[in-house]
Amino acid sequence: MKRLPIALVLLTLAVSAQTRPRKIFISVDMEGITGVVQPAQLGPDGFEYQRAREWMTGEVNAAIAAIRESGPADIVVCDSHGNGQSVLIEKLPDDVRLVRGFPRPLEMMQGIDDTFAAAVFIGYHGSEWTAGAVRSHTISSARLLGVKLNGMEVSEGIYNAALAGQFGVPVAFVSGDRLAVTQLQKVVPAAEGAIVKEPYGYHSAMSVTPARGQVLIREGLRRAMAKLGSLQPYRVTAPIDLEVGFKLTIDAERASFIPGLSRPDAHTVKGSFHDMVEITKLLQVLTSLEAP
Ligand SMILES: [Zn+2]
Repeated sequence: MKRLPIALVLLTLAVSAQTRPRKIFISVDMEGITGVVQPAQLGPDGFEYQRAREWMTGEVNAAIAAIRESGPADIVVCDSHGNGQSVLIEKLPDDVRLVRGFPRPLEMMQGIDDTFAAAVFIGYHGSEWTAGAVRSHTISSARLLGVKLNGMEVSEGIYNAALAGQFGVPVAFVSGDRLAVTQLQKVVPAAEGAIVKEPYGYHSAMSVTPARGQVLIREGLRRAMAKLGSLQPYRVTAPIDLEVGFKLTIDAERASFIPGLSRPDAHTVKGSFHDMVEITKLLQVLTSLEAP
């Protein structure tokens, strides 16, 4: 085989790096979508759920459009709310792939791997212990009473940043109410944010309109994509100490039967784990068990 001159090899590599689409991972939740404040928007029985699905899909499409303004992108959207089937699949661009349904091992980040250039969080909300945030909870509002990683109480945004970080993927952007955005930015200050509502409490906020929310998301993502090369993944130190609270003491009791988990008090179990993937699989099992 004839050898190519080194300059030609380098030129070929440079051209292919430029033209190869970047891979961007979008995880989308519903509580932090513009206009969403109550269960009326959050599930199939709610009178405004079908409309909230439109708002949610509109925000995903605004994000996709802004990402693609900065260059070609291969996009995976992970539908991460409730039954995992809220995003209107037929309204996405036809070259986007969508993760749907639960249970799944990587929860809100199913589909992430080390080939992605960045993760983007749309419609996120504050953590279980954040007072005054819209629908604040962590992973399961029905079952869990908060999650701590290495002693720090985390939101889903921080948790998923750590999970992406295990794959070397940085978080570029988050949208949601003010507390959802600032909570993540305290830990990942380089992440850009779009605040689409000012929370008054668990079931109330002053929201912008869906159209304005989409503009804010588009503007924020433009800023995020401009600094893509300088973003660093958020990594938690391993082994990782996990502490999980359960609303029902019987859930904590049952979880404490799992080897490696101990129960420091009636509502809490804890253990030490190798990485975020291990922890996420465990939490997916613990939050999808039938109520005892
Ligand atoms: Zn959530």
